[in-house]
Amino acid sequence: MRELLLVRYGEIFLKGQNRPYFMRTLVKNIRESVKCLHADVWLHDGRIFVYGFEDMNQCIEIVRNVFGVHSVCPAIEMEKDDFDAITRQAIAMMEGIQGTFKVSARRSDKLYPLDSPQINERIGTAILRQRSGLKVDVHHPEHVMNVEIRDKAYLYVKVVPAVGGMPYGTNGKACLLLSGGIDSPVAGFMIAKRGVTISCVHFHSYPYTSDFAKEKVLDLARLLARYTGQIRVYVVPFTEIQMQIHEKCPQDYTTLIMRRFMMRLSEKVAEREGAQALITGESVGQVASQTMEALGTTDAVVTRPVFRPVIGFDKQEIIEVAERIGTFKTSSLPYEDCCTVFTPRHPVTHPKVDKIAKAEEVLDAETLIQAAMDGIETVVVHGSDPLVVEN
Ligand code: ATP
Ligand code: MG
Repeated sequence: MRELLLVRYGEIFLKGQNRPYFMRTLVKNIRESVKCLHADVWLHDGRIFVYGFEDMNQCIEIVRNVFGVHSVCPAIEMEKDDFDAITRQAIAMMEGIQGTFKVSARRSDKLYPLDSPQINERIGTAILRQRSGLKVDVHHPEHVMNVEIRDKAYLYVKVVPAVGGMPYGTNGKACLLLSGGIDSPVAGFMIAKRGVTISCVHFHSYPYTSDFAKEKVLDLARLLARYTGQIRVYVVPFTEIQMQIHEKCPQDYTTLIMRRFMMRLSEKVAEREGAQALITGESVGQVASQTMEALGTTDAVVTRPVFRPVIGFDKQEIIEVAERIGTFKTSSLPYEDCCTVFTPRHPVTHPKVDKIAKAEEVLDAETLIQAAMDGIETVVVHGSDPLVVEN
C-alpha cells in the first residue's frame, strides 16, 4: 500500500485521434514540473500517477498548476484481491468527515469478482455502519469515496481542483506584448493555458523608463513561466522610435503611431520565433487607444491574428484573474511604462487609418525598425528563477 497522486485531465478527452499526443505532452509537462521533487510520473490505464515526493501538499500545489490538469487526488494504492482490506481502508479514509456521501466505484478490470454497483453497496454499507456522522445521498453528495479497480485498487476522497486548459506546447506559438501592467500578463496566461507556447516582446525606453521597469517586466515573465516552464523575452529598444514620433508627428496621433510600431516590431519578432499570432492585453474602451477604431488601426499593420483574450473583461475582472495567477502584486509596483511616459493629453479616439498612415510618412519606418531589431536583448526566464524587483 502506498500514497500517491492521481491526476485527472479535462478537455483532452475530446481530442479523438490526437489524444495520445496530448497525453504524452501532459505527462512530459507534469514530469518536468515535479523534477525538483525527484518524483516519478507515469501514465497507466488512462490515468496519470505521481509518486515519490516528500511533501504531498507541495507536490499537489505544483501539479495543480500544470495546464491540462483538471484535478489532483491524493489516493491510496493497494492490492485489489483483499476486498475486506479495501473496505477497511475506505472506512479509515472517511474518518472525521461529516454530512452526505456516496461511494463511486469504477472497474476497468472487468474480471473482478464484484461489479461497480456491488462495490458501491458493500463499501457504502460498511461506512454507514462505522461512521455515524454520515448519510447517503447518491444525487448530490458532499463527499465521494472513489474506488477504482484497475491493475491495483485506488481509493480517494479529496479532489483538489486544478488550473485546467490544454497541455502547454500543443497548440502552436504566439508572441505576447508584455508591458509592466496588469492586463498583458493575464492575457498571456489565458492563451498559454490553451496550450499555446508563448514568448514575450517588451518595449523598453531607456532612460525614460528605468532598469527597474525592465526587471519588473522580466519578473512578470518569470511568474508566467511558473506555469509554462521557461519563456524567451525579447527586450526591444524603443527610445529612438518614441523620440522621433514625439518630435515629428501630430500630438493627438502619437499614441496610435507608437502602437502601430509596437505591432510591426512584434510581428518581426514573431517571424523570428516562428510564432503564428500576437497577444495583447487590450480591453475594448479601456483607454483612448483601445476604441474599436483604434484597435483597427493597429491590426492594419500586421498580417498575423491578434489575440486579445481580455477584450470583454472589466478591469476588476482582469484584476481578479491577476490575483489568482499571482501577477497582481508585481504588476502593481510603481515603475512607469513607455506608454505612460509619452502619453499625449488629447489622444484621438476615432482615428482614420489613412490619416494615421499620412502622419507616419515623415518617419523612416524601415530604418527605425531595423535599428530596433538590431538592438534586441534576449533574456530567457524560468519559473524557478527568484524575483528581482520584489526582493
Ligand atoms: P497592461 O495592459 O499590461 O495592464 P496597460 O493597460 O498600461 O498595461 P496599455 O497602455 O493599455 O497597457 O497597452 C495595451 C497593451 O499594449 C498591453 O496590454 C500590452 O499588450 C501592450 N503594451 C503596452 N506597452 C507595452 C510595452 N512597453 N511593451 C510591450 N507591450 C506593451
Ligand atoms: Mg491595459
